Amino acid sequence: MQYHIQTAPVWDAYKSDGCPLCALYAAKEKRLVKSYLNENVMDEHFRMFSNSLGFCPEHIRMLYAGENKLGLALQLETRAAYLYKEVLKQAPSDKKSAKRTADALKKHCGCVICAELDEFLPRYYMTIAQMYDNEPEFPKLFAEANHCVKHATELFAAAEHAKKSVDRYLADLHRSLSRDLKRTERELRIFCDCFDHLSSDKPDATTIPRAVELLITKNIK
Ligand SMILES: [Zn+2]
Ligand SMILES: [Zn+2]
Repeated sequence: MQYHIQTAPVWDAYKSDGCPLCALYAAKEKRLVKSYLNENVMDEHFRMFSNSLGFCPEHIRMLYAGENKLGLALQLETRAAYLYKEVLKQAPSDKKSAKRTADALKKHCGCVICAELDEFLPRYYMTIAQMYDNEPEFPKLFAEANHCVKHATELFAAAEHAKKSVDRYLADLHRSLSRDLKRTERELRIFCDCFDHLSSDKPDATTIPRAVELLITKNIK
């Protein structure tokens, strides 16, 4: 069986805590941020990409927190020059052309890191479903994993790749997501009850981060 990607990172992610796909995403995001502070700075291809698309608020925060202020300034300098040319090309003279200006500029307001991340995880959804069918040890890890809602949803959509094991794959995924949602609901109720004036219990500080991990993202910090 040929996989589209290496399976070693999948095994590692499934052996660690929390949503394995959030972990793969965070590791890739970290590598990408690092590359935009190192080798990509002077790479013509990546430079054209970042000049044209820019960075989103979240990723510029990560880049700014990094060690290479010169590398970041060089990229922002050519980004400003690129946008300056675009703005000159798009001088609006009335309401109609203002709409065209806005549409043209919107195409250049994105994020190179988000764009690469958007292409990264879909290859894993298919491989994970295939691994469920092909790797005898994998279904147990899969059933025990705490997939977040977003990634469980993507794994439901990839079910066809589990081939002859599709029924077991779907049952495991559904059971584990239901289990984690019920547990989270229970933990949040206990947390909220601690604020009752009759209660002497202290709220558990890990409750909200754990709920966010399941409902939204593992990468809350
Ligand atoms: Zn996730
Ligand atoms: Zn981004």
